[in-house]
Amino acid sequence: MKAMVLQSPESLVQGEIENPTVEAGNTLIKITHSGVCGTDLKIYQGGIPVDYPRIMGHEMIGEIAEVGGAEGVEVGSRVIIDPVVYCGHCYQCRRGQTQLCPTGAIYGRDRDGGFTEYMQTAADAIFPLPDNISGNTAPLLQVMTTCLHAQRLADIFPGDSVVVLGLGVGGLLHVQLAKARGAYPVIGITRSPERRALAEQLGADFTFAPDDDVDKKVLELTGGVGADLVIESVGAVAVLEEAINLARIGGKLLLFGIYTSTELKLSLYQLYFKELAVINARAAKREDFPACIDLVSRGAVQLEPIVSHVLPFSELERAITMLGERDNKRMKVILDHT
Ligand SMILES: [Zn+2]
Ligand SMILES: [Zn+2]
Repeated sequence: MKAMVLQSPESLVQGEIENPTVEAGNTLIKITHSGVCGTDLKIYQGGIPVDYPRIMGHEMIGEIAEVGGAEGVEVGSRVIIDPVVYCGHCYQCRRGQTQLCPTGAIYGRDRDGGFTEYMQTAADAIFPLPDNISGNTAPLLQVMTTCLHAQRLADIFPGDSVVVLGLGVGGLLHVQLAKARGAYPVIGITRSPERRALAEQLGADFTFAPDDDVDKKVLELTGGVGADLVIESVGAVAVLEEAINLARIGGKLLLFGIYTSTELKLSLYQLYFKELAVINARAAKREDFPACIDLVSRGAVQLEPIVSHVLPFSELERAITMLGERDNKRMKVILDHT
């Protein structure tokens, strides 16, 4: 079968590799669509170290080619693959924190992933897709599960005020999930006018640019107290500082952006004085997949407006390098393997 193999940083070649032999209890999936994400770009550039050769890709859907123990699916069923692999018997797994399994792995980083023709997965890691979720949008469900998992940790109630800093793919999903949970107002912040318009189309009650006197506007919109929850969806320390400013006394911060900085200049006194709860979220759990599939199928969350490009699988390298270019009109890039 054909696969796009990363042989070393920035050396991605289309290779002919052997079809996987399906182990007992596993299921073979013919990949039809995949999403590229910032993690793939970092792996491609060598910023996230992996063992070479490696097939990247952790957002993938496909059709079942061979059933091995999976229930409720048959050959030809459309499914999404949860890329998280966990052991099931360590301390974290027994506590239900499978996303944090210390010996766990993620397809596309620690094991070969979805930028290929066929891959095999554990039977419990696939979830059937309804016909009304198209292949060109379905890989985004994996991103959405990480947002849903994060919001499960953050306890939003109807009427809570939520600020989302950064309106990329993750930020726009957070906006929609917060609305689906009854939050009000949901306020989106980004420099990009295109992304502000998109956020409003997807349900944000208000949007502002960062230099638009945001502190004052958030106070005005929250009865003078500040936001109950601020979601940082950029991954920059300066934005985290702004999140601390915008949260109300006794409020919460959800750190969704991935920080790679090891140096920190932050108003730690404000963090203490406001008694802010700081919530970090990583990956997702199996339970998040059916929940996200249902929300999208019912139309409570829209994925289509967040997909800006659908490219043929052969253009994977172009798709990955596009992520490194500044372009506010580019949102999710999906690859069509068919
Ligand atoms: Zn991703
Ligand atoms: Zn484990």
